[in-house]
Amino acid sequence: MSVLRRMMRVSNRSLLAFIFFFSLSSSCLYFIYVAPGIANTYLFMVQARGIMLRENVKTIGHMIRLYTNKNTTLNGTDYPEGNNSSDYLVQTTTYLPENFTYSPYLPCPEKLPYMRGFLNVNVSEVSFDEIRQLFSKDLDIEPGGHWRPKDCKPRWKVAVLIPFRNRHEHLPIFFLHLIPMLQKQRLEFAFYVIEQTGTQPFNRAMLFNVGFKEAMKDSVWDCVIFHDVDHLPENDRNYYGCGEMPRHFAAKLDKYMYILPYKEFFGGVSGLTVEQFRRINGFPNAFWGWGGEDDDLWNRVHYAGYNVTRPEGDLGKYKSIPHHHRGEVQFLGRYKLLRYSKERQYIDGLNNLIYTPKILVDRLYTNISVNLMPELAPIEDY
Ligand code: BGC
Repeated sequence: MSVLRRMMRVSNRSLLAFIFFFSLSSSCLYFIYVAPGIANTYLFMVQARGIMLRENVKTIGHMIRLYTNKNTTLNGTDYPEGNNSSDYLVQTTTYLPENFTYSPYLPCPEKLPYMRGFLNVNVSEVSFDEIRQLFSKDLDIEPGGHWRPKDCKPRWKVAVLIPFRNRHEHLPIFFLHLIPMLQKQRLEFAFYVIEQTGTQPFNRAMLFNVGFKEAMKDSVWDCVIFHDVDHLPENDRNYYGCGEMPRHFAAKLDKYMYILPYKEFFGGVSGLTVEQFRRINGFPNAFWGWGGEDDDLWNRVHYAGYNVTRPEGDLGKYKSIPHHHRGEVQFLGRYKLLRYSKERQYIDGLNNLIYTPKILVDRLYTNISVNLMPELAPIEDY
C-alpha cells in the first residue's frame, strides 16, 4: 500500500512538473508568435551580453598583461587611456573646416562642417502641429518635404520611403530628427510615407515597392532609403547618400545593444541606388507579417553580385522610439520562401505588383495609402 502511495506521489509530482513545463513552453511559443519583434530583441540582447562579457574578459586579460609589462602604455599606443579608435581620428581630421565656402556650381562635399557627429536624440512625444510650426519657418521646404540645397549641387537625390501603419506618434519625432540631418548633409530629399490600410498582416516589403514606384513617378531620384519609422540615427555623419554598393545604415541598434545581430542583418535602414534596386527587382511581395523580407533583400543583393557596405565605427548607431504596440504576428512561411530567394527574385518584386494608391501631399511628406492583398502580387506557388 505504502509503495503504491509513494508511486502515486512521484507520479503526481511528475504530472505537475509536466503541466508546468508544458504551459511554460506553450506560453513562450505563443509569445514568440504574436510578438516576434520583442522576442527577437530579447534573444539578441542575451547574445550581445555574451559577446560583451567575452570582450571584457579579453580586455581584463590584456590589461593585466600590460600592467605587468612596464615598457608599454595602457592602451598599447603613445596616447593616454581614452578614445583609441581609428574611426574617431579619421572622422575628426577629414571633415571640412567651419569656414569652408560652398560653390553653387560644384557638388556638395560628403564630409561637411555641420556634420559634427553624435546627435541629441529625443524620443519624447511631440505633436504634428508643433513640428509643422517649427518647420514653417523654413521656406525652402516644398510640399512633400522636398528640399534641395542652394549653396552647392546635391550629390544625391534621395527618396526616403517609410512603411507605415498605426504609428502616428512616431512620425513627428522622425521628421524632427531626419529633416535637419539631411539638410546638414546637403542632400536633395523628400519623404514618402506608405501606409497600409485593410486587415491583412503588415507587408513592409510590398509597401517599399509601392513607395518606390510612386516616388519615381513624382520626381527624378537616384538613391532610395528604406527607413523604419521608429529608427533614429544617433550620428549625423551617417551619410544618407548611396554608393557603388547597397548600404546598410542601421548597423548598431540600441535595442540589440549596438551589436550587429548577425552578419547578414539588413533591417531597419538600408539604401540602394535606383539602378541597383531595379536590377534586383525590388523587395519580394510575398512576406506577410513580421520577419524575413530584409533577409530576402540581402539574398537578392548578393545574387546580383553586390556586397553590402556599412558605416564605420559608431556612425551606424540608432535609437529606437519605444512603443506600446503589440507589433505584427510572425510570418512563419519566411524560412521556406528564403530557401527559394534565388528562383523567386525574378518573378516576385517590382514586376508583379498591382496596386491602387490614394495619394495625399502634406507639407512635410507624401502619404501613399494602399490596401494590400496577396492577389495584388500574383506568383506561382513555391
Ligand atoms: C528576421 C529579420 C529581422 C531580424 C532582426 C530575423 O530573424 O528574419 O526580418 O530583421 O531577425 O530582428
